[in-house]
Order: sequence, then structure tokens, then C-alpha cells
Amino acid sequence: MKIKHDYHMHTCRCGHAVGTIEEYIAEAKRKGLEEIGMSDHLPFLTHRDPQYTMDLSELPDYHRDMEEARARHSNLSIKIGIEADYMQNASDRIGELLKKYPYDFVIGSVHFMKQPEGDWAFDDPREIERWKNADIDEVYRNYYRLLQGAARSGLYDIMGHIDLVKKFGHRPKADLTDTIRQTARVFAQSGVAIEINTSGLRKPVKEIYPSLEVLKAYSAERVPIVFGSDSHDPKDVGADFDRARDLALAAGYSEYRVYKSRKVQKTVKL
Ligand SMILES: [Zn+2]
Ligand SMILES: [Zn+2]
Repeated sequence: MKIKHDYHMHTCRCGHAVGTIEEYIAEAKRKGLEEIGMSDHLPFLTHRDPQYTMDLSELPDYHRDMEEARARHSNLSIKIGIEADYMQNASDRIGELLKKYPYDFVIGSVHFMKQPEGDWAFDDPREIERWKNADIDEVYRNYYRLLQGAARSGLYDIMGHIDLVKKFGHRPKADLTDTIRQTARVFAQSGVAIEINTSGLRKPVKEIYPSLEVLKAYSAERVPIVFGSDSHDPKDVGADFDRARDLALAAGYSEYRVYKSRKVQKTVKL
């Protein structure tokens, strides 16, 4: 079966993405998808960055736009999600904000890590220079610690792009197999799903997030999956989903999840 549910896409409300909800819907229909899940970035509570997220004052508009789009289109299911950063010192406030809106799913993502010189958006091309002086093994270990903390926080339904740290092609020298297995166990205990995110194929690393090796560790712990293109342009909706499906099958998966109101609505056979 083709994968017909894409749970990760960004509209122009995120300053670094293009496309309106209507353009996403048109492309999803053209590609024969059954359901899309919108997942613009949750506004930061700690600072503003218009190139990254909508302002907090726009969040009601985001929901209104999505609800209206849902009402206009009966032949495509539209789920309302959000991609929320894991920020250790703002977890309580993020949790409160998430409760105010009727999300179908919340993707938890780690894009930032604390460094002595301040927070580092390690996957942001604007901050790529900081990789030059980084201890890559330590960045990877830090990344997995943050992923575990995010899963344990209970704020999220789905963990986003779970080896994003490889985005620019930096690879650890250390063997992190045990760290990855431990992270998979934490995810299983926390009840979160993971996404198979095809956007890595459009990035310097040219790989799906996560790699087959990483995905196998999650499959061994029976951590459920969803699929996401992480489109920042409507043309990428459902991109490379055949490859994503093959990867899931190769890792031992046989089904994926569909969410509604932050609960599992059903599972679909691969
Ligand atoms: Zn992300
Ligand atoms: Zn995203």
C-alpha cells in the first residue's frame, strides 16, 4: 500500500517556509493522499524569531485557518498538529500553551542545545559555523540526552526527525549504539511514536531521518511510527514516501499510526 498520511508540513506562517494551506491541500489531493497533518512551529515562549515561527499572537489565526480549511474540504482529511521545540526551562509553559488548543497531534523536536556561549540551533543553516569548533561526539550525546528528556516530558505524541543531528553530514567517531538503544527504550516507556521524516533526503546528509540502523533500534522496542515529509514547500508533500515505506518495512514495521485529538485513531497496514 502507498503511504497516504503525511503528518509534517509547514506553511508560510513559519518565516522559512512557503505555501498556504490551500496550496498544500491541492498538492495532497493531486498526489492522492488521504490525510494531511499540518505542523507549523509552535511560537517560542523564550524569544521571537520571525524567520522561524509565527508570533504567539498569530496562534489563534493558525487554528482558525485550519478549521476553515477543514470545513471547505470534505474529500481530504485535515489534522491539526504543531511542531513544538523541547526547551527544558520552558516545558511547563509549553505544556500550558499546548492545552489551550485542540491538537490532533503534537510533534516534539529537538533543534536547540545549550552551549556555554548560549543556545545553539545546530540544524539552522544560519548557525552552521558553530559546528567547526564542536566536539561532534559530545553534540551527538547531548542530542540523545535531549531527545530522552523530551520524550519523558510527556508533552509530545510523536518525536520528530530523531537523528536530525546528522543533517549537515557530521558523523560521530564514538559508537553510539548503546545510547540509541537506551533512547529507544525511553521512547517505548514514554509512549511516544516516532516519525519517518523524508526531509533529510533534501538536506546535505541526503538520508531519511532516521537511518535504517537507528530505526531498527526503535522497531526492536516496538516504538510506533508515522510518516512526515517535513515539507516547507507544497511541492514536497508526500515526497519520497515509497522510500520511507521501504525503510519502515526493512526495519521490521508492518503498520503506522493515525492520530485524532491526541489519541491513536487507527493503525494502517504498510
Ligand atoms: Zn523540525
Ligand atoms: Zn518541521
